[in-house]
Amino acid sequence: MELKIQRTTAPAQKPSDPRTMGFGTIFTDHMFTMDYTPGQGWHDAAIVPLEDLKIHPGAAVFHYGAEVFEGMKAYRTAEGEIQLFRPWDNMQRMRDSAERIQLPDFDPDFLLQAILRLVDLDRDWVPEAPGTSLYIRPVEFCTDVDLGLHCIGSAKLLVLLSPVGAYLTGGLKPVDILIEDTDVRAVRGGTGYTKCGGNYAAANRAAARAEEKGYAQVLWLDGVERRYIEEVGSMNVMFKIDGKVVTPALTGSVLPGVTRRSCIQLLRDKGYEVEERLLSVEELAAALEAGKLEEAWGCGTAAVISPIGKFCYQDKCYTIGEENGPCAQWLYDTLTGIQWGRQADPYGWVCKVPRA
Ligand SMILES: *Cc1c(COP(=O)(O)O)cnc(C)c1O
Repeated sequence: MELKIQRTTAPAQKPSDPRTMGFGTIFTDHMFTMDYTPGQGWHDAAIVPLEDLKIHPGAAVFHYGAEVFEGMKAYRTAEGEIQLFRPWDNMQRMRDSAERIQLPDFDPDFLLQAILRLVDLDRDWVPEAPGTSLYIRPVEFCTDVDLGLHCIGSAKLLVLLSPVGAYLTGGLKPVDILIEDTDVRAVRGGTGYTKCGGNYAAANRAAARAEEKGYAQVLWLDGVERRYIEEVGSMNVMFKIDGKVVTPALTGSVLPGVTRRSCIQLLRDKGYEVEERLLSVEELAAALEAGKLEEAWGCGTAAVISPIGKFCYQDKCYTIGEENGPCAQWLYDTLTGIQWGRQADPYGWVCKVPRA
C-alpha cells in the first residue's frame, strides 16, 4: 500500500519548557491515518496535518466502545538520533487487542514503517530535556454507522504524536497505593490482556476514589476471588520478596507489558530469580510483616519504573520504605539507559528512526 504524505503549511509552536508539557495534551503537526472498508481492505494510508475528524455520531465506537490502542515513545539520544524501544512488540500487541475486539487486522510492518516516517517528519518535536520523550499513540476504532450491528465492518486507524515531560516530576520517588477491594478492572475471559478503552473506563471510579483519598494509584485484584494481585494503575507490578522477584502471571486479565517483559529479562540476566505466578494480598502482607518484602514497583512505558512506598488494604496500611530500593533504581537506570542510548543495547531492543 502506498503512503501519501501531505505536509503542514502552518507548523505549530513547539513547547519550550518541559515542565509545561504534561502528558498527552500537546500534539505535533502531523498524524497518520488509514481506513478499512469491507471488500476493499485498508486504504487511503496517509500522513496528513493534524486535524479534527469528521465522524458520523452513529459510529459504533461512540456507542459500543470498539476501540484499541497502543502506547510507546520516541527518545532523543545525546547524538541527536531518534529511536524507539521494542516497537515490534507494540505492533503485535495491537493486533492481539484488535483480534479480541474483532477490529480488522493490519500489516504490522506497514504500520511500523508509517510510524517511523511520521516520527521522522516530526522529529524536531522530540524534546531533549532529561526524561522527556515523544509519546506515540496508535488507535484503531470501528466507524460503522449502525446501532444494531455488533460485528465490525469499517474501521479507522490513526497515529498521534505528543511530546511528554518526565511522567514523574522530581525523579523516582515511592508512591502510596490503595488496594481496591470492590471494583475490578478485568476478569479472565474478558479484555484485560488487551489495550482497549473499555478497560480504562472500567477503572475510572476506583481511580477517582483513590485519588480523592490521596493515593497515587489503585492496585487491582483479580476479578473472581479479589485476592490475587494483578496490576497497579495502568502498570504491571513487581515485588522483591526474600531476594526473589515475584510478578503476577499473565492469566488473561493482566496486560502483557513490554516494560514488564524487559524487566524480567534484565533481572534474570543479572542473576535474579523471577517468578511469574499468583500472589495474594495475604502473602504480601505476611511477607511484609516477616520483614521479607524488600521492594515493590510498578512498570510501564509512561513512568518506566514507579517504586511503591506503602500500600493500604481495607483501612490497614503497610509501609515498604520511604526510599527507592536498589533493584527498582537499577531497572530504571538500565531501561532508561538503553532507551536514551546512554547504554549499550545487547538485546536489539532499540529501533532507530531513519532520516528520509
Ligand atoms: C499499557 C499498560 C501497561 C504497561 O505496558 P507497557 O507495554 O510496558 O507500556 C500495563 N498495564 C496496563 C493496564 C496497560 O494499559
